[in-house]
Amino acid sequence: MRMPSRSHPRSLDLAAWFDGEIVGDVGAHVARCARCQRETAELARIRAWLRPTERFASLPADRAVKGG
Ligand SMILES: [Zn+2]
Repeated sequence: MRMPSRSHPRSLDLAAWFDGEIVGDVGAHVARCARCQRETAELARIRAWLRPTERFASLPADRAVKGG
């Protein structure tokens, strides 16, 4: 395992963590790093306008009709 506490996690790791994946100590790092908090907030903003198309593209039509 690496020791991510010294440096900031990469944007990719931040994004993965943001998606709910466990990425080392990213969560703990973000909790105490203002810079990464801002980067995560930026991610949230990007996701907010990315999501509609992303969801629409990956959503199985069959499920959308039946509603799960
Ligand atoms: Zn950081």
